[in-house]
Amino acid sequence: MKKIYLLCFLPIFFMSFLIVSSEEKLKPTFKYSKEVLPLDRETREIRQRYRGKIFDSHAHLTIREGGYCDEEESTNSIVNAIKKTLDEQNVSQITIMSVPNSGRMKNYNVDVQKSLKKVLGKRMYLLCCTHYITNWANQQYENKAKVNDLKDELKEIFTRLNKDLQNPLYSGVGEIAFLHFNKRGHQALIKFPANYPPFLKILDKIANSNKKNLYFNLHTEPIDSDNQDSYHDMAFGGAEFLFKRYPNFKWVYAHSAMTPPSNVRIILKRFPNLMMDFNLKKSHIRDHNGWAYLSNPSNNEWEPYEDWAELMEEMPDRFMVGTDTKFCQRGHTIGIRNYKKQIKRFRKFLGALNRETAEKISYKNAEIFFNNK
Ligand SMILES: [Zn+2]
Repeated sequence: MKKIYLLCFLPIFFMSFLIVSSEEKLKPTFKYSKEVLPLDRETREIRQRYRGKIFDSHAHLTIREGGYCDEEESTNSIVNAIKKTLDEQNVSQITIMSVPNSGRMKNYNVDVQKSLKKVLGKRMYLLCCTHYITNWANQQYENKAKVNDLKDELKEIFTRLNKDLQNPLYSGVGEIAFLHFNKRGHQALIKFPANYPPFLKILDKIANSNKKNLYFNLHTEPIDSDNQDSYHDMAFGGAEFLFKRYPNFKWVYAHSAMTPPSNVRIILKRFPNLMMDFNLKKSHIRDHNGWAYLSNPSNNEWEPYEDWAELMEEMPDRFMVGTDTKFCQRGHTIGIRNYKKQIKRFRKFLGALNRETAEKISYKNAEIFFNNK
């Protein structure tokens, strides 16, 4: 009886194995650690602040028509306030993009981003398109949609992409995420495999656009801070898959891959052209754990953790400042005060590193990477 039972189920077992394997679960080819480092580990003392110029290579400007910033501020007043702040704070250049979740916002509008780019000219790089790619791909994945079901929608996206990639105001694509969890209590979930075919159709289209020096900013979160589930394979395997599939994109791995320096060292060695931006956030353990599990490079006083400082000094050419500021996203203000706070954090942090490293990370690396100097 047992044998017959087994024989009946064996084919089902093998068939289901085939289905799973045909989806090809991504895993990185390198070894990594899943360790979460203690927040009270050794930090480096800040002797003096870094006072030189800063190239902020990761910032956001988020406008919804009829909401927030836009309600009280005109395009001109937003653009002028941001420009004035950059001047005052000695921020020589900035890269602006939409947040990964921008596609979920009602009446999301990129016109003010374009206006800022027109005013700042070569001082600013503008990345496009995530507001109609990231959440769309996530939604389709949740609906289990296949490329064949989405022919019309993909055609529409390709039309938008063609237009945007031909627009000289844009220098690339970002911030794209395929793993993005709830770190503040109100963020929507993005979770789909990097090799989801409709997503790849879009990336293939971008790769075939012949846009030179196409920057691509990628965000992946290896840990869901809410329950500490590990998505390391999916994050690093997915990122590796994309880096290899699109070698001509100028890749930036956002927020230093949100993983400890030992993993970052391995990733940077594996991909010699890859750059990382990093931000300085507080590590809070509250109801939503925020960035506490995502290996912030500093403690809450903005002193670099010794392990991060050592890695940055060991590989000083690979990191760039990326405040991750969100102009206009929350409340009714542009977020100028918050931006000044962010820059202050970086001046403290950079002041603890050796001078050569501080200068490279603060602006020289980004100038070489973006300006092709
Ligand atoms: Zn991000």
